[in-house]
Amino acid sequence: MVAPLLSYEPATGTLLWQGETGDVDAEVARARGAWPKWAAQPIAYRIETLRRFVNVVRRQEDALIDLIARETGKPLWDARAEVEAVIARVDSTVAAYSERTGQKRLEAALGARQSVRHKPHGVMAVLGPYNAPADLPNGHIVPALLSGNAVVFKPSEKTPAVGEMLVKLYHEAGIPTDALRLLIGGPDIGKALAAHPDVAGILFTGSSQAGMAINRQFAAQPSKILALEMGANNAIVVWDTPEISAAAALVVQSAFLSGGQRCTAASRLIVHDTVADRLIGEVKKLADRLIVDHPHASPTPYMGPVIDNPTADGLTESFLYLMSHGGRPIKHMVRPKDGLPFVSPAIIDVTAMKERPDVELFGPLLQIVRVSEFGEAIAEANASRYGLAAALIGGTPEQYNRFWSNIRAGMIHWNRPTTGLAASAPTGGIGISGNHRPGGWYAADYCAYPVVSAEIENVRASIGVGLKDIDISAMGE
Ligand code: NAD
Repeated sequence: MVAPLLSYEPATGTLLWQGETGDVDAEVARARGAWPKWAAQPIAYRIETLRRFVNVVRRQEDALIDLIARETGKPLWDARAEVEAVIARVDSTVAAYSERTGQKRLEAALGARQSVRHKPHGVMAVLGPYNAPADLPNGHIVPALLSGNAVVFKPSEKTPAVGEMLVKLYHEAGIPTDALRLLIGGPDIGKALAAHPDVAGILFTGSSQAGMAINRQFAAQPSKILALEMGANNAIVVWDTPEISAAAALVVQSAFLSGGQRCTAASRLIVHDTVADRLIGEVKKLADRLIVDHPHASPTPYMGPVIDNPTADGLTESFLYLMSHGGRPIKHMVRPKDGLPFVSPAIIDVTAMKERPDVELFGPLLQIVRVSEFGEAIAEANASRYGLAAALIGGTPEQYNRFWSNIRAGMIHWNRPTTGLAASAPTGGIGISGNHRPGGWYAADYCAYPVVSAEIENVRASIGVGLKDIDISAMGE
């Protein structure tokens, strides 16, 4: 017998949810069966049903916020922001659908008509991460359903309760129960789902390791759609600015929002050595004041625990590794609560390290590199296989232009944190952060494919060139 999947609240260690691992074949078969009817519904009907979903979410907003906070450990205000993004996703996806996948008419010779329309792919597998367990899968589910696909959604094994509630809310809103299926399980179930022959596409948000494994798995199947939103090792560059405390606040927001468990979180601060000491001092002062506590605590915490103890152990080990390889600690990482995955925000200056590991440290750990030239700052920021988000704080408009032109990332900001964008923003990356299928506005592109049709109502044709003359003498024989 397969053991049930258990989900614990990271902040308390209490068992929150348990359930059986799902049956891949059965869930895909149900979705496949429901797909033709869902795809045949007029687009207006699908839009209306998704708008009803928004109303259902609004009615149960507090319960969803509470569940997200409990299952991820993020503070209530952070969970509320996630639910707002879930709500905003529908309108922005409807607008994107009409711009990206709307019907088009092309002019052809002699007044002939050629139309471009879009068709859904079939059953899409959505694989979700744990860090924003409602909003990120939703970023795939909404455009997939809107385009007329059926969906089998496998939430992260670390956040099954939120996944289950999300699917219930869709069903309550009128999405046919078989057009959106919940599949509970871990990476093996995800792998089996992706490999199912009736799955037409895999819409994935998660780590680069898992995304690349999926990419390898389907290297010989170009017909499967793969939309891979993956990990990061983002840089925030602080250049000359008199606004040191504002710059420090932007650094803290970038590095420690959601405990650094955002794909857009900055894990590297690259700073001009003329402002470095003052800036680092301010960042440390602010980081010392951040309240790290359980999501419902009072006073309101800035961040909660990380997702689980193995993750917390991995982060403290990474901090020790950096320290023992030449890093100079500015603020140590501590585990304030025995047996629970709380970790304090940590800062380490790695300028003197000979080889800095280019890995994603998904937690509140900020590495600092001091540089003296702007070109060096750009080179440091680009010294990564990842390429998701980057920000420049301070500098001149000319420097920002140079930064924007030379930085390899899908999100590049000026005087804004690396974290936090509108639901419609195309949140994709390059390198091993994505495969050029960004979500948000462009999700419409991978949820339907264009079909071009030359069309005319009457059968009319003749061959104008390359024919032999008709042999009149042979006629009538
Ligand atoms: P993860 O890669 O461990 O898991 C993501 C999902 O994929 C889970 O549902 C998991 O069960 C499944 N999975 C894992 N291996 C698989 C495989 N080989 N085949 C099929 N399915 C598989 O990611 P996580 O730890 O849950 O989430 C954190 C990661 O997600 C971080 O790396 C973060 O940067 C990334 N992330 C990226 C974005 C983005 O937009 N680029 C957004 C949020 C999070």
